[in-house]
Amino acid sequence: MTHIRIRDVSKVYPAPRRGGEAVSAVDGVSLDIERGDVFGVIGYSGAGKSTLVRLINGLEPVTSGSIEIDGVDITTLPERRLRGVRQGIGMIFQRFNLLRSRTIRGNVAYPLEVARMPRAQRRERVAELLDFVGLADKATAYPEQLSGGQQQRVGIARALAAQPAILLADEATSALDPETTDEVLDLLARINREFGVTTVVITHEMDVISRIANRVAVMERGRVVEQGKTYDVFTRP
Ligand code: ADP
Ligand code: ADP
Repeated sequence: MTHIRIRDVSKVYPAPRRGGEAVSAVDGVSLDIERGDVFGVIGYSGAGKSTLVRLINGLEPVTSGSIEIDGVDITTLPERRLRGVRQGIGMIFQRFNLLRSRTIRGNVAYPLEVARMPRAQRRERVAELLDFVGLADKATAYPEQLSGGQQQRVGIARALAAQPAILLADEATSALDPETTDEVLDLLARINREFGVTTVVITHEMDVISRIANRVAVMERGRVVEQGKTYDVFTRP
């Protein structure tokens, strides 16, 4: 079964009350993301990529169309059930979004606290996650004491905490230098390979997609103008 099935989805942001025009951010998008894909969505700023991410994790209601995750249309689910869906989706952000007042282990533990995992189990899971991303020795440090690449690895550990079936990475490497970008992409590829996590990578960076994605959709002005195997979509010399 197709893991994420997007059909004819549109999102119009209404005109602000003080005037201005409605924005058609996503316009008739259909995508099939299969289980275990690393699916790349590429496009310039303003193409509608972030909006698409917020529609997939149900943070923003669609204007029309359907989004099925494992056969369940999330666009018609009540908020209470949406929260459950959202717990099965890990998010990784451009600006990492770590809590600066909490330690590294505190940041990774956060979603587990929200999910009310018992303390002993939580400790074990946090230790395992920090080990996995290679930051066991930074457990009691604070985000500010870490490099950008290390902070993003904390973001990835946090995203994996609840053992999501889906990872959404929104410009996850855009704030990083090329070397650190490689590190983070290697980690994402490993997560996909070892845990079979379906990964959606949103970016404006061509080389990120060509390095990691097996399938790709190209967005322009809210529309998907091309999609297919990465190998077929990109020209080769
Ligand atoms: P991208 O992630 O590709 O840069 P976005 O999804 O952020 O694209 O934006 C697509 C379009 O929707 C842009 O024109 C943007 O200004 C507009 N937009 C995004 N978010 C909102 C919002 N919350 N309210 C109104 N317009 C928005
Ligand atoms: P903070 O100051 O960031 O709140 P705490 O030390 O109070 O950090 O712990 C925050 C979270 O980290 C808790 O949810 C806890 O389960 C987890 N945690 C605490 N100690 C350990 C440990 N030794 N190993 C792994 N995780 C731990």
